[in-house]
Amino acid sequence: MIISMRPHATKAEIDYVCERIRDFGYKVHSIEGEERVVIGVVGVGDVTACLESLEATPGVEGAVRISAPYKFVSKEFKKEHTQMRINGLEIGGDEFIVMAGPCSVESEKQIMETAEAVAAAGAKILRGGAYKPRTSPYDFQGMELDGLKLLQKAKNATGLLIITEVMSDRDVDMVADYADIMQIGARNMQNFALLKSLGRCGRPVLLKRGLSATIKELLMSAEYLVAHGNSNVLLCERGIRTFETATRNTCDISAVPVLNELSHLPVILDPSHAVGKRSLVPAISRAAVAVGADGLIVEVHPCPEKAVSDGAQSLTVPQFRAMMLELKPYINLWKESRHKEVAAAV
Ligand code: PEP
Ligand code: MN
Repeated sequence: MIISMRPHATKAEIDYVCERIRDFGYKVHSIEGEERVVIGVVGVGDVTACLESLEATPGVEGAVRISAPYKFVSKEFKKEHTQMRINGLEIGGDEFIVMAGPCSVESEKQIMETAEAVAAAGAKILRGGAYKPRTSPYDFQGMELDGLKLLQKAKNATGLLIITEVMSDRDVDMVADYADIMQIGARNMQNFALLKSLGRCGRPVLLKRGLSATIKELLMSAEYLVAHGNSNVLLCERGIRTFETATRNTCDISAVPVLNELSHLPVILDPSHAVGKRSLVPAISRAAVAVGADGLIVEVHPCPEKAVSDGAQSLTVPQFRAMMLELKPYINLWKESRHKEVAAAV
């Protein structure tokens, strides 16, 4: 159950509502939004009696029953698709957003060249890891703070926003000084300490689906972020582990419409990690547009054969440019159906 308080509800009214919820045997989880306080009611109790009583309590605007275990991120809580404005850029609205850049920030020359090229081709956000989750401890681990500074330089030169991964709750404040969007990698999807820190940090978060995580688990992790105060969450499908070995992971393309049915949060698809092979990236990107994703996050490198990580799945700059052109008619159709959805919802 979720209780929305009126925009100007007093503290006494909010406290009284919380007291009533506890009287019914439930736990209270309240979130202070910019406009109003929203109270999550969790636990086991007499739902109908509690709902009826709260609807009639002063200060309460509305109460909804939510059957999914994830509350705030569910479609039951909010029917309209979430649009968020991130430093002037709207995600989840009527623009298909492309984030592009190398797997890892490697040098000033590499990141500046990539940033200029992807911006010219129509990307709006620069990706690049400064903290890298590598399977082997002997592999390149990222440039850390120096990498963040290079991302900042590329941002200043191109106007692109920055998305970069944060791996530990210790680094959250430092990464937040440089990132417009904080990326939670697949391996950290259930790092609950990190989720809680990012919930409190206030910067938008792109949450990647874990290697073997179900859609429900992804949504429960998103719920952690929202329940800890951060409602600017983007969900990301990046392929899952299956028995198939022809691709690095199996792209669960159906996750996009499934997530759109279950949740109001924007969905981004990462075709690069999903397939692990650059020749397959354009086809999966077209599919992402067709199934209604809100955007893509794609790996691009000026010289993939020299990349320190994920070279095989990185597009070259000319390949990225060609893909962006090829996506145009698909994005035009996507825009038409977005407008129809918005019109139908009004
Ligand atoms: C990445 O984006 O480079 C990355 C490590 O992705 P994932 O967490 O999806 O493996
Ligand atoms: Mn990568």
